[in-house]
Amino acid sequence: MSIDPASLRPATRLVHGGTIRSNFGETSETLFLTSGYVYDSAEQAEGTFTGAVEHYQYSRFGNPTVGMLEARLAAIEGAEACRATATGMAAVHAALLSHLKAGDRVVASRALFGSCHWIVSTLLPRYAITSEFVDGGDLAQWRAALARPAALVLLETPSNPMLEMVDLAAVAALAHAAGAIVVVDNVFATPLLQQPLALGADVVVYSCTKHIDGQGRVLGGAVLGRKKWVEETLQPFIRNTGPALSPFNAWLLLKGIETLSLRVTAGCVAAAAIADFLAGLPGVRRVWYPTRTDHPQHALAATQMSGGGTMVTFEVDGGKEEAFRAMNRFRLIAISNNLGDTKSLATHPATTTHMRIGAEERARLGITDGVIRLSVGLEDVADLKDDLARALSDG
Ligand SMILES: *Cc1c(COP(=O)(O)O)cnc(C)c1O
Repeated sequence: MSIDPASLRPATRLVHGGTIRSNFGETSETLFLTSGYVYDSAEQAEGTFTGAVEHYQYSRFGNPTVGMLEARLAAIEGAEACRATATGMAAVHAALLSHLKAGDRVVASRALFGSCHWIVSTLLPRYAITSEFVDGGDLAQWRAALARPAALVLLETPSNPMLEMVDLAAVAALAHAAGAIVVVDNVFATPLLQQPLALGADVVVYSCTKHIDGQGRVLGGAVLGRKKWVEETLQPFIRNTGPALSPFNAWLLLKGIETLSLRVTAGCVAAAAIADFLAGLPGVRRVWYPTRTDHPQHALAATQMSGGGTMVTFEVDGGKEEAFRAMNRFRLIAISNNLGDTKSLATHPATTTHMRIGAEERARLGITDGVIRLSVGLEDVADLKDDLARALSDG
């Protein structure tokens, strides 16, 4: 693109960022479904390998369609560089393992996506990397944990499923003083509602599977950060371990991302309305939504997020039995542990996504048996309200 993406507003970057056209002048991004590339000469091949010539080498290293997605994501995030990966977990794994070495120490918020929690609590210690979890919303715990040197801080805000928030600017300052880089899993906020790099984070990771595809079709992930870190630390790890994103999936994500702003804007309006509606329904004990004034951290949400997001969490009276009864009575809302889809999806975290962490850890995180997590889609809000009211009623 000849215009500097930094001069464009976010919605425009979503549509135009990173686009490169072939000599056919196509409007839509081209799908370069190729694993390899040919050279005009042996000298050009040699130059490509020494780095003297810029030329694609092999699709595990780079691919034009994947490259367009990376450039577009970087433009949206305001990041110097991006590398796409096959899944969100490949992105988290690469960001952590490329940076860490034996003897390092990691501090993480307790309320992490299940597989992120497993990497920190179970995988890293196998390589002599120690880890400590803190309650992400409690700055005193961050301060205590980061009073000692650390190499990396990993956190998610708002968290899954209780929508707990971490004060990004404050934790970044503490982390940097301890010698750590800050890696933020920004999936729930999306790049449109929260910009962790501007608040002091060093690296942002995404599961593109969620709002970026947004239509429940493909898996994908991304790591964004400074050019030097991406090229010198992340890139050798990715190139040699191979979590490459398929060009086909990159192409779908490029098309999905064009409507991200429309979908997330509509989703925020609908989710806020549904949160208020749920709060007034009999049988609903409590609702969590970042911008509602009864959210304990709504003031923090107002400073670091520009919208509450598309996720609503609520607790019904009557524990698992009532939660299951309500979910089994949904006609429109589907039972699924996925999120960020055009279709509204509900999950019971205690028996699905957060089953493996155990009852004690669930209790610490506030994930009771009555908690239901709702990913709000693009249906008419009135139909969603009807479905929720009927499912939660006695009749
Ligand atoms: C889904 C998700 C991931 C993992 O992404 P995959 O694409 O499923 O590998 C990581 N973090 C959060 C917050 C997620 O929602």
